[in-house]
Amino acid sequence: MSQVPHAVAADRQTPTIGTAWSTEEGATRAHHLFTEHIGGSPDGVWAAPGRVNIIGEHTDYNNGLCLPIALPHRTYVAARRRDDDKVILVSQLDDSVLTWEGTLEEIAPGSVAGWKAYTGGVAWALRQAGHDLSGFEAALVTCVPLGAGLSSSAAVECGVGLVLADLYDLGLTDSDARRTDLVNAARTAENNVAEAPTGGLDQTASLRTTEGHALLLDCNDWSVRQVPFDLDAVGLELLVIDTRAPHRLVDGQYEARRRACENAARILGVGSLRDVGDLGAAVAALDDEELASRVRHVVTENDRVTQFVKLLDTGRVREVGPLMDASHNSLRDDYEVTCPELDTAVDAARDAGALGARMTGGGFGGCAIALVDRDVRNEVATQVVSSFREAGFAHPEFYVVTPGPAALRVQ
Ligand code: ADP
Ligand code: MG
Repeated sequence: MSQVPHAVAADRQTPTIGTAWSTEEGATRAHHLFTEHIGGSPDGVWAAPGRVNIIGEHTDYNNGLCLPIALPHRTYVAARRRDDDKVILVSQLDDSVLTWEGTLEEIAPGSVAGWKAYTGGVAWALRQAGHDLSGFEAALVTCVPLGAGLSSSAAVECGVGLVLADLYDLGLTDSDARRTDLVNAARTAENNVAEAPTGGLDQTASLRTTEGHALLLDCNDWSVRQVPFDLDAVGLELLVIDTRAPHRLVDGQYEARRRACENAARILGVGSLRDVGDLGAAVAALDDEELASRVRHVVTENDRVTQFVKLLDTGRVREVGPLMDASHNSLRDDYEVTCPELDTAVDAARDAGALGARMTGGGFGGCAIALVDRDVRNEVATQVVSSFREAGFAHPEFYVVTPGPAALRVQ
């Protein structure tokens, strides 16, 4: 993706740390794409972030706790309302510009697929929820890497969702509670139109976060709390390592883990694994090594999120590293969703002085994160690159991220 600051180093041994576009750059690019490919001026430009989960992995579908932040990497949407039912979608990816022209009625499950479903699907979901829309024109640009596990999909769904909410005065941005309705529309678009069976974590992170904070999300009731996460103030950085590992067996394995958790909950007689009180008793009752390991991960991971938040609440952010390490080890040994690239990235980051490191997202590829002192960040990245080279893996990409704002209008 040449328009994304993946900045390829001339010397492939030297890590290059990619930064996100500034708001102005993103808005200008979107505005320009609109003018060039649709014509005239947009009514405005909106931006919606990707996300990275700090801790609380594979807990969402077990009614558990997660702690995502919104990325400074965002999808920018320049858009204009129409009075007829025509829809024009334009998206710039790499050096190619994708375009689609159709009608509102044509955006429906089974009628559109791929990028059109991700970008347009939220219009169908909002109409299903009873909102009155007419056509629209949207030009999208993004600096969220696609398919890396940083939720470029939620960024487009939430970006277009916010566009429609504003263009048609749907009242969905007036409060956090109304934004939850927008989360549901974006999630419905992903599940029903793009046909990707994911939970609502990504869309919640994109729409309900606050700058400088991590979002404590309780998937039992979708309640949230903003937890201060100001790394800059204590000289720390969060380094995202995109392993660029091919996602192997992801779909089947994700489903298998979900089924194992449901199965374990049924055997234990609880509604979800969130309700397991006594881990020792649960392990004994299951009498099945593999199921017990899955349950152990979920129960201990929820506990780690709680401990992590307690540290943040009491200003002890430098002490969270061991919880990140323990999370990764649990995902590797008990939940078995890591892969050699993720384990190598995490081990190398720890060896080079990261305070803590773990895989993030669904696993089997995608990204790892490392919490690092600002002045050892390059050393950590260099060590990861050299470990990848030794193992014969693809060259990893790096991003330094801070908690950005939720989706908003920028122009
Ligand atoms: P992730 O969300 O981790 O980046 P997904 O597979 O869930 O990966 O979503 C990636 C898909 O989302 C892409 O293949 C594409 O169809 C769609 N997508 C994401 N961003 C854009 C964009 N800016 N324009 C068009 N489609 C996009
Ligand atoms: Mg996604």
